[in-house]
Amino acid sequence: MIKQVGMTVINPKHLARCHCGAVVLELDLPDGIVDPRRCDCSICRRKGAIVASVPLSGIKIIKGQEALKLYQFNTLTAKHYFCSICGIYTHHQRRSNPNQYGYNVGCLDGVNPFEIGHVPTNDGVNHPADRDDS
Ligand SMILES: [Zn+2]
Repeated sequence: MIKQVGMTVINPKHLARCHCGAVVLELDLPDGIVDPRRCDCSICRRKGAIVASVPLSGIKIIKGQEALKLYQFNTLTAKHYFCSICGIYTHHQRRSNPNQYGYNVGCLDGVNPFEIGHVPTNDGVNHPADRDDS
């Protein structure tokens, strides 16, 4: 878990927003940024975001519910959300663990994900459970 990135201290309730600001999320991050990683599955390799984890109760949509678009593919288990105006991925409900959201670390207020340092890569291609959309 990461409690500070560069000069930015991660608040227990930290805001995240898409690029245009239409969508604002409030994240419960009492333990900071938990389990940040990249993933090489078919969708993550395209979006390239660093993704961290929160329980489903850990995301509240403060603003822009109507701007959020849902994208699903394959087994239609995972739910990938993005802003329909600026196209930025904000969060997704996982297929590998439907009790969790992954969220885009780059959307956190004041956080430059490139300051986190080394981030592990999840092997989304060869996972035994075929979780190619997790
Ligand atoms: Zn937007």
